[in-house]
Amino acid sequence: MRTRGKITEVFSSVQGEGLYFGEEQIFVRFFGCNLKCKFCDTHLDRFTEYEPEELLQELKLYKNGHATVSFTGGEPLLQKYFLKAILKLTRKEGYKNYLETNGILHSALEDVIDDVDIVAMDLKLPSSTGLKDFWHHHHRFLKVASKKETFLKMVICQDTNEEDLKEGLRLIKEVNKFLILVLQPNSYEEYEPMIEKLERFKDIARDNHITACVIPQLHKKIGLK
Ligand code: SF4
Repeated sequence: MRTRGKITEVFSSVQGEGLYFGEEQIFVRFFGCNLKCKFCDTHLDRFTEYEPEELLQELKLYKNGHATVSFTGGEPLLQKYFLKAILKLTRKEGYKNYLETNGILHSALEDVIDDVDIVAMDLKLPSSTGLKDFWHHHHRFLKVASKKETFLKMVICQDTNEEDLKEGLRLIKEVNKFLILVLQPNSYEEYEPMIEKLERFKDIARDNHITACVIPQLHKKIGLK
């Protein structure tokens, strides 16, 4: 199927979140998202249309020193046909495919998982996002994602409550207790007042036999894109 993708930007930078923070990656930011998290810092107000092959040619301009392409958004899985096509091309070129996702569109993930190498999956806590809960979707999504290298991320805000954390830990234990959970403080809120909460959340994770680490958004701290 011939398909065009709506892409907001393509750029090279340092991965600023999660377990791969510090790695130089090429970022492909997909246009459009199915959520509206209250802490969202991503502005998707324009896009350029690409054929998969056109996008690959643009990525090749960055080839030196980049092992990994990060497919981010918005939510890349909203454009699953285009995503599938570009994942196949990048993999053939020898790149590692890193998918950043809000962890909800499990059927779309099933269609592309074979060509994904790393899944960076959000667990959207209702007390953080200001939205409804997505536990059922997250559960199904995580089962599919776990076929590949996966880690989880929770954005922790001053409003985030312990019940949501515990529900997330339950879910991780049910699907795969060996997955690492990243607790990421909301970068729009002051860090100092949240230190105690982050430490407490880490302890609760440990008591539930889940490895959790606190990793703030590095790129914002050092002034990178
Ligand atoms: S899922 Fe990500 S891109 Fe979409 S609204 Fe939430 S934070 Fe923003």
